[in-house]
Amino acid sequence: MVADGMSPGVLPLAEQFSERVRSKGLLWQALLNDPKTTRGWMDMASLDSLVTDSSSASSSWGSGSRIFNGWVNMLPDGTKLTPIASVARDKGKRIGLVTTATVTHATPAGFAAVQRNRDDEHLIAEQYRGAVDVILGGGRKFFDPASRADKRDLIDDYRQQGYQILSSLSDLAEANSAKTKQARLLGLFSDGHMPYVIDEAPDHRAPSLAEMARAAVENLRNSPRGFLLQIEGARVDHAAHANDAAALLREQLEFDDAIETVLQFAVKSPETLVVITSDHGNSNPGLVGMGHEYTESTRSFERVLLAKSSFYAISPLLGGKTEYTMATAPREKGRPKPTADQVRAIMLRHLGLAVDSDEVEAIRNAMAGLKQVSVNHQLDALSGVLGQVAGNHTGIFWTGSTHTSDYTLFTALGPGSEKFRGLMRNTDVFPLLSGLMDSNFLNPRMDPVKAKAYMKESLAGRVRIRPDWA
Ligand SMILES: [Zn+2]
Repeated sequence: MVADGMSPGVLPLAEQFSERVRSKGLLWQALLNDPKTTRGWMDMASLDSLVTDSSSASSSWGSGSRIFNGWVNMLPDGTKLTPIASVARDKGKRIGLVTTATVTHATPAGFAAVQRNRDDEHLIAEQYRGAVDVILGGGRKFFDPASRADKRDLIDDYRQQGYQILSSLSDLAEANSAKTKQARLLGLFSDGHMPYVIDEAPDHRAPSLAEMARAAVENLRNSPRGFLLQIEGARVDHAAHANDAAALLREQLEFDDAIETVLQFAVKSPETLVVITSDHGNSNPGLVGMGHEYTESTRSFERVLLAKSSFYAISPLLGGKTEYTMATAPREKGRPKPTADQVRAIMLRHLGLAVDSDEVEAIRNAMAGLKQVSVNHQLDALSGVLGQVAGNHTGIFWTGSTHTSDYTLFTALGPGSEKFRGLMRNTDVFPLLSGLMDSNFLNPRMDPVKAKAYMKESLAGRVRIRPDWA
């Protein structure tokens, strides 16, 4: 289970948020004190950077080899690596991928696909057919002939191969109650990523991560030789890129609900190993000391509960195209500014924050693509500015808008969990998992010094800026 882009400091923030929103703490936090679990930290560096992206991170678990950021299970010289799903499949196990991102996104792909460029999701979509039994998440556009450049109908291809196709919460519930749980499932519940939890209308929503996790476990549990399932809370990462604390904390609770679902199964099936972790930090949010003797910090933090919308949802209301105004996108100059009254009303209605005139001006300038007084270049885009404005009121501030090199926290329970402890390296995971499946298969690795020769070529192939949140 992967909370994508969860900085270590998110866990205590989410614990406090959980106490206030649902009158109980995080299950993940409680597990840290459970003597049946083991825990530690993991060094997630990639082959070309101390800071990993999600495809390289997931590939390091999925192949046992460090690779370049942006690649999926492939060494810099083009050598294709065998992903963990193939190893498990050879041992007769069924495979599942569940995510709140597109199902072809970097983290699920790292367990089951091989691709030079993680952005070629239409090609990754072709690779799961027959290789992954349960696929649940977003990303219909990569399967749908109407949106694929080659007009191929992958949905029909999957159907022909015996997959049951699901597209709504009621489809998922039906598949869950069906007697034939051995059917393969392809559930595509949105065109792109699944919506942020904070933006969803309760009466008209997509399946939650916990609901998808339950359907996957119910489907896979009858496999006579067991299963390998990856469950990703993907949008924790996207909210961190956007410096959006409220959206992030809601996603973290969603992930915690999925942990509960998985543990309910694991308690009844004690032969199951469960590993809960993150693939990298992201923008490292933290609650800072506010007011005299920091006595304002707690009250400030509680203002996060007032937010009803994500920054992603607010951005178009301020007059911008969402994809051009969020973090990691280039500043777009010359866009008309919203009026001060508009900004004030939107911030109050959607975030519950009464912003002052300096903050209003900063947001208006960000919309117009003007340079801010901030010295931190990463925080110059709209989401960075919204994050800083919100931070003035909530006390939560960010280091930037991209991934960080922090060690990630992991917690494990079940057979083999005793091997997950201390300070581990991401490449240790593959031999541990394949060993537990009675395989001694190892992929080739590339020495970082040798890899340097390929770095220039690799960068040349990745000039476009990827909108991580899109
Ligand atoms: Zn990311």
